[in-house]
Amino acid sequence: MENNYVVDVAVIGGGIMGTAVIRELSRYKLSSLLIEKEAEVGWGTTKANSGIVHAGFHDQPGSKKAKYCVAGNGLYPQLCAELDVNFRQNGIFMVARDEEEVAILEEYLRRGEENNVPGVRLLSREEALALEPNLSPDTKAALEAPSGGVVAPFELAAALMENALDNGAQLLTEAAVQDIHWDGSKFQISTTSGTVQAHYVVNAAGLFADKIAQMVDDTSFVIAPRKGEEYLMDKTAGSVVSRTIFPVPNKLTKGILVIPTVDGNLMIGPTGDNIEERDDLATTMDGFQRIFSGVKSLVDGIDPSKVIAPFAGVRAASDRGDFILEPSPVNNKLVHVAGMESPGLTAAPAIALDAVKLLEEAGLELAPKESFQSKRKPLVRFHMLSREEQAELVAKDPRFGRIICRCETVTEAEIVDAIHRGARTLDGIKFRVRAGAGRCQGGFCMPLVIQILARELDIPVQSVTKRGGKTYQIKAKAKDYLLEEVVQ
Ligand SMILES: Cc1cc2nc3c(=O)[nH]c(=O)nc-3n(C[C@H](O)[C@H](O)[C@H](O)COP(=O)(O)OP(=O)(O)OC[C@H]3O[C@@H](n4cnc5c(N)ncnc54)[C@H](O)[C@@H]3O)c2cc1C
Repeated sequence: MENNYVVDVAVIGGGIMGTAVIRELSRYKLSSLLIEKEAEVGWGTTKANSGIVHAGFHDQPGSKKAKYCVAGNGLYPQLCAELDVNFRQNGIFMVARDEEEVAILEEYLRRGEENNVPGVRLLSREEALALEPNLSPDTKAALEAPSGGVVAPFELAAALMENALDNGAQLLTEAAVQDIHWDGSKFQISTTSGTVQAHYVVNAAGLFADKIAQMVDDTSFVIAPRKGEEYLMDKTAGSVVSRTIFPVPNKLTKGILVIPTVDGNLMIGPTGDNIEERDDLATTMDGFQRIFSGVKSLVDGIDPSKVIAPFAGVRAASDRGDFILEPSPVNNKLVHVAGMESPGLTAAPAIALDAVKLLEEAGLELAPKESFQSKRKPLVRFHMLSREEQAELVAKDPRFGRIICRCETVTEAEIVDAIHRGARTLDGIKFRVRAGAGRCQGGFCMPLVIQILARELDIPVQSVTKRGGKTYQIKAKAKDYLLEEVVQ
């Protein structure tokens, strides 16, 4: 059946920007719909980045990046508490390895102070090494920003969407926007999955935001994609550092970083390479070599043989060199949330607030909804509980006693819960609850997760996909087998 929606606001794109905007809209008495071309939200650049909640000393004072990075950082603790999303304020170091770099640190200290980054300060070599003993012995000084943190970006996007849905927003997935036409009172949006009529539109289509703008003859910006390769390491790579470690940046990127992720892995990256194809997500030997040779002079004791998952994300850099948060010059009822390269993840909560203000300035009525619930139902993270708490849960629900992902200790009950919260695919499960995200990358648990998805969604195992579309994992004639037999 063809979908046909009529809503006050349509948000195009379900990355961190679109999901933050729709959650903000769900505070008000209005109808809203998020349109996403993939099977689930969060699969664009939002799923493939460094996961750092930046402090805000990198960005040029006066830029939108600086303004929204610092404001977004300030919103993270409360937002992640409300949505029960993993977030750790582990702090950031930018490290200088010679006198020239020390002078650059001083420049970034001034930027940090001008941008109102809380607690930013310079540390001597001795102070820096006392706090992070595995920094290279060549370390001369470090800039410290205690407000920096780490988050699981996909988890946050999924949580924002779940909370928006709980507050009355709607979601249309596997629906690529193909055309937009203003009929004098509404936008008529054609998608691969039906039509949407909307009085207001938010363009949060990431790498394709300029293509969306062009659909209404708006050519006010162009996206220039820039790829970043990242290398995720096994948990046995250890906690070499506790803060996120940056070198002094180059002209294009913040450089190769050492990131202790919120999930307890170490991650190294990213590269920064201008590319032609927006969907070029290949990792390369050249990228690997640049990353691991770059990191050697920053932190000691990083072993490249511990890499478990290489991946790449593409930054939606624009020809403006700054975030684009503005009404379209063609029609102010279309608001662009575009050009969101780094620190877009950090800035998203603050950008969402101002995107909604721009809609209000264009005429959208914002009457607060008394029934708005800011809190998401908390998750059970079995691996983080004590033995006693685990035993209690198993006694109540035996599905907590079935460990499906052995690398990350994820139980059947947690996977079922993720499906009930919106996961539809193997990747949806992997990024929500980490089944398949550990050392074996799903080698052991994938068939089990496929069966749980099939059972809970009431579809044949052959219809379960890795990431929507035709990414089926089981051939049409494979014989079904019982979960009970496999896991016991
Ligand atoms: C390597 C790398 C590292 C980074 N590290 C950090 C970091 O540590 N901290 C930080 O703050 N920022 C970081 N960033 C930046 C951050 O990832 C982005 O700013 C953020 O993810 C952008 O979110 P978005 O919602 O704009 O885009 P996306 O996540 O790409 O979302 C856009 C969505 O639109 C959908 N879409 C596109 N076209 C259509 C269409 N026609 N119809 C329907 N849907 C459509 C896509 O499928 C996608 O889901 C990094 C970026 C990269 C690449």
